[in-house]
Amino acid sequence: MAKLEMKTPLVEMDGDEMTRIIWKMIKDELLLPFIDLKTEYYDLGLVHRNETNDQVTKDASEATKKYKVAVKCATITPNAARVKEYDLKEMYKSPNGTIRAILDGTVFRAPIQVKGIDPVVKNWKKPITIARHAYGDVYKASEMKIPGAGKVELVYTAEDGSQESVLVHEFKGPGIVQGMHNLTDSIESFARSCFTFALDTKQDLWFASKDTISKKYDHTFKDIFQEIFDAEFKTKFEEAGITYFYTLIDDAVARVMKSEGGFIWACKNYDGDVMSDMLSSAFGSLAMMTSVLVSPHGYYEYEAAHGTVQRHYYKYLKGEETSTNPVATIFAWTGALRKRGEMDETPAICDFADKLEKATLDTIESGQMTGDLKLITTLPNAVKLNTEDFIKAIRKTLEASL
Ligand code: NAP
Ligand code: MG
Repeated sequence: MAKLEMKTPLVEMDGDEMTRIIWKMIKDELLLPFIDLKTEYYDLGLVHRNETNDQVTKDASEATKKYKVAVKCATITPNAARVKEYDLKEMYKSPNGTIRAILDGTVFRAPIQVKGIDPVVKNWKKPITIARHAYGDVYKASEMKIPGAGKVELVYTAEDGSQESVLVHEFKGPGIVQGMHNLTDSIESFARSCFTFALDTKQDLWFASKDTISKKYDHTFKDIFQEIFDAEFKTKFEEAGITYFYTLIDDAVARVMKSEGGFIWACKNYDGDVMSDMLSSAFGSLAMMTSVLVSPHGYYEYEAAHGTVQRHYYKYLKGEETSTNPVATIFAWTGALRKRGEMDETPAICDFADKLEKATLDTIESGQMTGDLKLITTLPNAVKLNTEDFIKAIRKTLEASL
């Protein structure tokens, strides 16, 4: 069979540990035999990040601006233990943080649903995609312990020296105080990424905050979303047959639990932190969660939501058998290939991405799966395969479908 042609390269960011092993297996078994794969390769593995003083992460991000679509393997975010383990020159920042700082944008996480792995919430028939605003609020707050009676005020000093202040509290005794902020630019780009991704995936968009209580702070989020929607997206949403829906955060939570899914839920930073863990555990498994960074400038970076699966890697290094789930990493590749195909107008590439996803899900539904899924499946005939055999089983299903 002739290999499928690609027009424009993808930016390929390789990574670390078990996911690096899986990365190569996916390419060798599921991509290279079928596609004349064009990528611009960047090795974001920690060894090479260290050799380049992390320049490679910046170069890969700049390349993503050029080619617009990237696919990324999970990478180690160094901590003190990793500095020792890899003899690092410094404790480099999280690659995802560096990439996001260069591309701007919002991370969307969605569960991959498959028969036999049932969500805890029975009525969730379709995936719920969560978008978390990744700047500010409590994550960049300043805090203080108040030792005793006294007055706390917020003071804004403008560049010309003029001041405006507001009383926080007249303390009668000890207490605590916190000051947090956000930026109009950041909220605007969050809103644009959310509206853009809703159009891309033809799903309704929900956004929620606590504007009834927080009449300036949260209300500004609500207003910015509404203004951008009205000015730039309303007509496009109508044409696509999708809606933008704003409600209070507590009401949103209640509605999400009773919904059947199939929409995007945009969350402020803290809400997104909490709700994304709730959704991923309720949908089944972190290993079945995809993640895509959508920049308001039209760049896309696809990856799995999980990390490098370190514990499995150490087993692998000792020559022990592993059963690591490659599904989210496969879907990172298919997401990127489909987007590449859409941008290049090469429908055969999109079609291949669809077939590879279907082959992956069909393989699981036939009862062949990795250990993490075997533990939670309701399928009666499930068999646990090791990492490599599972990928080979997907290849067999894929070949039969081509
Ligand atoms: P992790 O790699 O997500 O793994 C945590 C545990 O979840 C694993 O030990 C495993 O449980 C289970 N798991 C996760 N993915 C799985 C898969 N594909 N198949 C089967 N089981 C899976 O998180 P971590 O161990 O906390 O972090 C390891 C490294 O990843 C860290 O250095 C961290 O910096 C990095 N990280 C990177 C990213 C990213 O690049 N986006 C995200 C998060 C973390 P069992 O061991 O019980 O089988
Ligand atoms: Mg968290």
